[in-house]
Amino acid sequence: PVRVRFAPSPTGRLHLGGGRTALYNYLLAKKTGGTFILRIEDTDKKRYVDSAEKEIIDGLHWLGIDWDEGPDKGGPDGPYRQSERKQIYLDVAEKLIEQGDAYYCFCSPERLKEMKELQQQRKEFPHYDGCCRNIPLEEAKRRVAAGESYVIRFKSPQEGTTTVKDLLRGEMTIDNRQIDDYIIVKSDGWALYHLAAMVDDHLMRITHVIRGSEWLSTLPLHHLIIKALGWNEPVWIHLSVFLKPSGKGKMSKRESADLLKDGYSIFLTDLKDLGYIPEAVTNWISLMGWSFDDHTEIFQMEDLIRDFSLEHLNPSPAAINFTKLDFFNGNHIRRLAPEDLAQRMKPFFEQQGYETDDATLLKIAPIVQEHIGGLDEAPNMAGFFFKDSVQPSVEDLIQKGLTTEQCAEIASRSYTLLSGLPEINTRIGEPEMRDLVVEMGLKPAQVFGVLRVAVTGQKVSTPLFESMEIIGKEKVLERIKSAEI
Ligand code: GLU
Repeated sequence: PVRVRFAPSPTGRLHLGGGRTALYNYLLAKKTGGTFILRIEDTDKKRYVDSAEKEIIDGLHWLGIDWDEGPDKGGPDGPYRQSERKQIYLDVAEKLIEQGDAYYCFCSPERLKEMKELQQQRKEFPHYDGCCRNIPLEEAKRRVAAGESYVIRFKSPQEGTTTVKDLLRGEMTIDNRQIDDYIIVKSDGWALYHLAAMVDDHLMRITHVIRGSEWLSTLPLHHLIIKALGWNEPVWIHLSVFLKPSGKGKMSKRESADLLKDGYSIFLTDLKDLGYIPEAVTNWISLMGWSFDDHTEIFQMEDLIRDFSLEHLNPSPAAINFTKLDFFNGNHIRRLAPEDLAQRMKPFFEQQGYETDDATLLKIAPIVQEHIGGLDEAPNMAGFFFKDSVQPSVEDLIQKGLTTEQCAEIASRSYTLLSGLPEINTRIGEPEMRDLVVEMGLKPAQVFGVLRVAVTGQKVSTPLFESMEIIGKEKVLERIKSAEI
């Protein structure tokens, strides 16, 4: 049975890349009836961010992703936070040392710095020079017992080659001299990713490791560690990298912060606040490195679970395309049930200071739905429904090509016409108003423009007659009357 995991480090905010990795793992588990595990990789105390675990969990839930085992859920292979597994890694490190596949290294930071500078001068590939590699184990243990500071390094082979296999890229062979004696346990006693993740993947019986491509370069090391321990290797799947929207290079921290000015972000909680719905974000990221065929674009989560397959993952870099996100957002918003949309719009109205009520929200949802590209647009489009009165400006009321007198006449004749009708909607009111347009020899846009600004206070709004129906005849007349032209 498939067992997969998403293993974020709580070092910052959950971004698109993390969301996509989690999604693909989740989809594979769901599709195959396997198990999806959330593991928090928090052994790097320097980079640890207190709020990050919660943000990761909230972000994944927002996307609609849930897991079978994890720090908040427990499970048979826990604990699921690496900070609670320190001794497990140390025991494995010790085993590697005993069998000659790892060694204590006592080199001081100063010595390592000098070594690095020398290598730079000689234009050598930066690597540990193996100074402590051959210290006899008994002597090393004495120095450890005497309290000397040390790290534990993996003893990489110095000859031959190592062949690794990534499901998307096939086999890759690398010269062992290029594999450094990487540190696997730091001087503070905490295992590094290279050891901790291999140990956990083994103990948690992970069958497929789907992770970011930044780990491709250390895959040979991971392969060697697993081999040294005599364990089974998982299927390795390294996902494509994300490029900036221009397609030229990876996005820098600065650039991702700058995005917010344009109403975009690579962080999931930002996208939520910006008015994107999770269905759209999930659809969007699902296609950044995977495709079903060459034309299907709209996927709900259940479609993804049905259609996802590892064979259709694509290792080529994917440019982040926010225009596409906007497309998906509008599209998925139009697929929501009105009750659902009403509830999702609510916080966006309230944030703008509108006091909403559920009955009105439900009434306006169907007409707002067709006209917004994001939930954040709802207040601008339809805030007038929650106002007692609107204060349109004279400039807005005067329509292009018309005089003040003409606009005043439009208002007063509309008032007279509409007040004589039993109700106002697309069936009653609209036909009569269209006759009036003809009678006055004007254009629909001019007459309806005056009416729209008078009734909604805005030049752009939800459809006029549908809107007037919801506002109600009495209030509509009141607003037309009080419009000062
Ligand atoms: N903790 C690693 C990261 O955040 C996880 C990589 C993996 O999935 O193995 O990048």
